[in-house]
Order: sequence, then structure tokens, then C-alpha cells
Amino acid sequence: MIDCREAVRRMWAYLDHELATQPVTEFEAHLETCQRCCGELEFSRQLRAMVADDERSPAMPSHVRSRIETILAAGDVPSGEPG
Ligand SMILES: [Zn+2]
Repeated sequence: MIDCREAVRRMWAYLDHELATQPVTEFEAHLETCQRCCGELEFSRQLRAMVADDERSPAMPSHVRSRIETILAAGDVPSGEPG
């Protein structure tokens, strides 16, 4: 079983469909037991959709968008507490 830190680390690769079968299985198994990561995944999914739809969603302020791109580039999301 992977922990929250590992789950968050895999989240972006998961959304990009870049994970192999085994990591995906572990990741999804973690989500089934962890509300927090479930919420984080949904948040990340929405975030990606917002970035992808940016041209159709001009409402997003440029400074917000640049922050999101920074987060995406880092391949991680800031989380409130470790573990
Ligand atoms: Zn978790």
C-alpha cells in the first residue's frame, strides 16, 4: 500500500495516463481508502481541465494560470500536511 505522499506524487502521471498498470492499481487502491487523496485527485483533474480549456475559459486570470502552470511543471501539488 502506498502512502499519501506517494499517491500525490503519482497523481499527475495518472492523469496523463503515464503510469504502468501496477502503479495505477496501487494508486487506485489508495484512493479507495483515502478521502483526502480522492479530493486531491478530483481537484487536480478539474485543474487540468481548466488549463486545457483555457482558450474557452478566458475568465481565468493570467496570474492564476501561471501559478497553475508552475504547479503542473513541478509535478506536485502543495499539500497542507506531510504524510
Ligand atoms: Zn491519501
